[in-house]
Amino acid sequence: MSRGLLIIISGPSGAGKGTVYNKVLERMPKIRKSVSVTTRLPRQGEVEGVHYYFKNIEEYQQMIANGEFLETASVYSNYYGTPKAQVMQMLERGEDVMFEIDIHGAKQIQKRYAHCVSIFLMPPSFADLEKRLRERKTDSEDSIQHRLGSAESELAKYEIFDYIVFNDAVENAVDKIVNIINAEKCKIAYNTEIINSLLNERKSK
Ligand code: 5GP
Repeated sequence: MSRGLLIIISGPSGAGKGTVYNKVLERMPKIRKSVSVTTRLPRQGEVEGVHYYFKNIEEYQQMIANGEFLETASVYSNYYGTPKAQVMQMLERGEDVMFEIDIHGAKQIQKRYAHCVSIFLMPPSFADLEKRLRERKTDSEDSIQHRLGSAESELAKYEIFDYIVFNDAVENAVDKIVNIINAEKCKIAYNTEIINSLLNERKSK
């Protein structure tokens, strides 16, 4: 059995990460979803344990103190983090796990786990990003400007990511991410255990 792969999808607010993430999961149903913990309030329709685990700030800080996070970051004035235990169990079972996290979380995971692939999802232009942020009608003008500024500084750190996918059309972006994951899983480094067990099978004949 090969080890599970950690797949990081990151990118600015408004890039369409959530939609693309869910469509990749539909196409690759064996990939497990990492459910994050957050201190932000639930939005309408969000379900505890499905979209996020919602905690208050004291509960969240206690989880940090207990070392329960694989990574944690403050994003737009709220805390977000990946619970370590659930991910470690999935990886130990050889399952691939996909995360939709910000750039700071991505960096923390890359430092700890060599066996991960990180993908930066970006709209084809800043004008397009601004249009998407305006169309979703969830942000004030200040918040839109703040998110555009954050997008620019995240894109400037592009070198930390392994891949960039331009979300010009959802299905194109999903195709590319599925291809990246499949290629990543064929890498020699990912398959050394299987290769060695095949070679041992021959030797023992
Ligand atoms: P939202 O509040 O819109 O669901 O998410 C806001 C931002 O937080 C998104 O950019 C998302 O990628 C990021 N995020 C969600 N979960 C996590 C997490 O567990 N860790 C980190 N570092 N970022 C997260």
